[in-house]
Amino acid sequence: MHSAPPRPPSIDRVLNWSAVFPLIAEYGREPVLAGARSVLDSARQTARTGERVDYTEHALASRLASHLAQRNAPRLKRVFNLTGTVLHTNLGRSPLPEEAVDALLRAARHPCALEYDLETGGRGDRDDVVEGVLCELTGAEAATVVNNNAAAVFLLLNTLAMRKQVIVSRGELVEIGGAFRVPDIMSRAGAKLVEVGTTNRTHLRDFAEAIGPRTSLLMKVHTSNYAIQGFTASVPETELVQLAHAHGLPFVVDLGSGTLTDLARFGLPSEPTPQASIAAGADLVTFSGDKLLGGPQAGILVGRRELIQRIRKNPLKRALRVGKLTLAALEAVLRLYRDPDRLPDRLTALQLLTRPRGDIQTQAERLLPPMQQALAGWPVTVAVEPALSQIGSGSLPIDRLESCALTVRPSTKKSGVLHALEAALRGLPLPVIGRIADGALRLDLRCLSAADEADFAAQLSLVKP
Ligand SMILES: *Cc1c(COP(=O)(O)O)cnc(C)c1O
Repeated sequence: MHSAPPRPPSIDRVLNWSAVFPLIAEYGREPVLAGARSVLDSARQTARTGERVDYTEHALASRLASHLAQRNAPRLKRVFNLTGTVLHTNLGRSPLPEEAVDALLRAARHPCALEYDLETGGRGDRDDVVEGVLCELTGAEAATVVNNNAAAVFLLLNTLAMRKQVIVSRGELVEIGGAFRVPDIMSRAGAKLVEVGTTNRTHLRDFAEAIGPRTSLLMKVHTSNYAIQGFTASVPETELVQLAHAHGLPFVVDLGSGTLTDLARFGLPSEPTPQASIAAGADLVTFSGDKLLGGPQAGILVGRRELIQRIRKNPLKRALRVGKLTLAALEAVLRLYRDPDRLPDRLTALQLLTRPRGDIQTQAERLLPPMQQALAGWPVTVAVEPALSQIGSGSLPIDRLESCALTVRPSTKKSGVLHALEAALRGLPLPVIGRIADGALRLDLRCLSAADEADFAAQLSLVKP
C-alpha cells in the first residue's frame, strides 16, 4: 500500500491514469478534463480546511466517475407518480397513449408534411393536421392549436378584446396553479376586465347591465379547481349566448380541462365538453390538451370560422404555435375519440382514471411483502389501506376515485421518520413520489402499471434508513 501523495496530481497525470481511460471513452475528453478540474478544485478546498485528502488514483478516479455520472444524468427524470393525483401538473400531467408516442417518434425522426399540401405541392397550414378531426368531434366550424390553454385564452383576448372590455362573473375569476389568473391574463392581453355579480351568485341581468359600447365579448370560465356550493346561481350558457348575440357580441368559454366524450359513461363524474358549449351556441371554446383529454401539452381553440381566422392572423399566433411533435401526438390522441367504446383501453389517462379499486388492491397486496422487507430497518409499519385518488389538473376538484395505497405509519413517536423515508424514496434511481398526509405516507398505486411493477419493486432494497 502506498500512502497518499501529499500534493494533488497534475491534470495531465490524472488524464493518463488507466482508471480514467474508460471515463474518457464514455464521456469524451473535454467533459473528463472539466470534471477532473472540478474534482481537484474541491479536493484542494477540502485540504485547506486541514482535512486529509486521498489523492490516490483509485480515490480520485472514483470521485471523478461519480461526478461525471451525476452531471450526465438527465434532469428531466422519469418518476413513479404514486401521489394519488393522476393528472399531476408538477409531474407532467397526462401520460400519452402508445399511438401518440409512435406518432411523435415518427415526426421526430423523419421529415413530415407539417405545412405542406401534398395535393397541390404548395404551402399548407400546420393547423390542418388537427382541424378536421377537432371539428368532427366538437361540431365547430374551425379550430386552431397553441402552446397551452393559458396561451389560447391569452391569444383569444388579445385578438378580440384588446383595448376593450370583457365581462366575467365574479364567481369565475379563477387562479390555476398559482401562475394563471384570469384577471392577470386579461390585463396582459390588453383587455379590461369587467366583473359582474358576486362570488356565489351571478344573474343574467348582471351581465345585461354591464354591456356597453366598449364591450368586446362575454366570457365564461370553467371553475376547474374549486366548487362553489350552497346558495349559488350562475347563468346557463344558452342564456349568455342569447344575450351576447342580441348585442352582436361573441360568447366565449374557457373550459380548462376539456374532454371530448361524456365521462359518465365510464363511471366517472361528468365534466362539461366543448361540443356541449358549441351546441349551446358558444362562438369560441378553449381547452387544454394534457388534462382530461389525455394528450400532449397544448391549448385548443374551436369555434366560428371567422373568429378563428382572426386569431390565426394575430402575429402572436406565430409566437405561441405548437411544434410538429405536439401536433403528431395530438392528432393521434384525437383519433382515439372517434371510437369512444375502446377509449378506456387505449387512452392512458382514462385507463388510469377508470382502473378498478379491486385491481389496485391486488397489486398492493402483491407489493406489501417486498415493501415490508425493504423497510424492515425503518421504525415504521406498512399496510394496504383504502385511499382516494384525485383526478388533478383542476379537473373535477371535489370528486375522488376509490383506490388503494401502501400506507406507511411511524411506529415510534420520533417525528421526521416519514419525511426521511419520503426523501429516500425520492432519491431512488427511479424516484418514487408519494404523499404525506394525516400522519401517514401513502403510495397510491393507481398509476403504477403492471409493466412497471417489477422496476418499482427491484429498487426498493436501496431504500436505506
Ligand atoms: C388549466 C386551466 C387553464 C390553463 O391551462 P394550461 O393548459 O395549463 O395552460 C386555464 N383555464 C382554466 C379554467 C383551466 O382549468
